[in-house]
Amino acid sequence: MKPWEKIEDLKEKIFKNEEQKSYTSSLFEAIEKKVKDSLLSQNADDALITITRWALELRASDIHYEVKENFVDLRFRIDGILVTLFSLSRKDYKILLERLKYESALKLNISDIPQDWKYSKILEWKKIDVRVSTIPTKYGENMVCRVLDASKALVDFEDLGFFWTTKRILEKALSKKNWLILVTGPTGSGKTTTLYTIIKKLNTPDKKIITLEDPIEYEFPGIVQAEVNEKKWFTFDVGLKALMRQDPDIIMVWEIRDYETLNTATNASLTWHLVLSTLHTKSAAETLDRIANMWVKPYITAAALDTIVAQRLVRKICPHCKCEVEKTANETMVISSMMKDIGLKTLKWDNVKIYRWAGCDQCNHTWYAWRIWVYEIIRLNEKLKDLIKNWASSEEIIAEAKENDMISIAQDWILKAIKWFTTIEEVLRVV
Ligand SMILES: [Zn+2]
Repeated sequence: MKPWEKIEDLKEKIFKNEEQKSYTSSLFEAIEKKVKDSLLSQNADDALITITRWALELRASDIHYEVKENFVDLRFRIDGILVTLFSLSRKDYKILLERLKYESALKLNISDIPQDWKYSKILEWKKIDVRVSTIPTKYGENMVCRVLDASKALVDFEDLGFFWTTKRILEKALSKKNWLILVTGPTGSGKTTTLYTIIKKLNTPDKKIITLEDPIEYEFPGIVQAEVNEKKWFTFDVGLKALMRQDPDIIMVWEIRDYETLNTATNASLTWHLVLSTLHTKSAAETLDRIANMWVKPYITAAALDTIVAQRLVRKICPHCKCEVEKTANETMVISSMMKDIGLKTLKWDNVKIYRWAGCDQCNHTWYAWRIWVYEIIRLNEKLKDLIKNWASSEEIIAEAKENDMISIAQDWILKAIKWFTTIEEVLRVV
């Protein structure tokens, strides 16, 4: 069997295992009882507080209400995985839905078009913002609430998983007065959190920072934050041009979706501004291709672009029940072939330990608790910039970068797996 066939084999087993995992139900039963008791006494506010509080407690990023023919499923997305808590009757859901729409200032009498807004709750002296969006479906209005816990958003680079070399490269990039830094990754890879952490780090009184967001998720003291409004033609492109006239030092544009925004962002960087933004691409190579496909001239890309950070979110192994295990022959082969692939030939693999879970109450027997990011990070030095100017392909550029200090996602996650931050299985599931 070839190494890649073994990887596929291992992946298949992982997905099967994932399906068989289930959360302990006693906690969910207790939440269900509390919510239903509140709804029975028509106290929708209490029911909502219970749901929001437990979403926070269980580290859920989103609360899903999925309308089926005869009932409604309440599901939490915990550490990236959707988990069903319990089902509500359609009558109970109607009470909750009305309360949620009322709290979020959505139109109560409209149920046939999508709506979105947010509401805030004070829980234990902490303000929690919840972004609510509805969509009409065959059986009624589906609702998804994104929980925005500001205290969790503002973390440090180490909490995000920037260790060792990745942190050094990023900090070097942020010490510059100009240039464009792009954070990339798929939806749900936490690009927002990384940008906010960078902004928090850069936020000193001597600098003017302006952001253009969609929507503003957290409010920063001392920073000018603007929100795009497509209906009023306040788009990313228009907004970015307007904010350039506000004499900023640092600009954060939520997302670059088109040539106009990218062009304005590169111009801003070339006129001595530090520009931070995100692109919806999976890797540094794909980012370079996307920029080329937007028809930005290579010499402009080379002059403006400094650093690309591509990221993924993986679940962190539960620290309370992790245990050291022997590697199987299959795992040894897969991992050593990956090590070779990323140029870690010199690492003595025999001495490397791998970890697995036992399952405990702390992680609800899911074997994982919290999440951590894995990164690919590339800084464009003069040699790489020359390659871009000379129309080199992204493959050539990445190959050259790997000769220098580029850290690939594979490298970062293998290092995290052997340092017990995550498991080999989890990494194969995500990447
Ligand atoms: Zn555990």
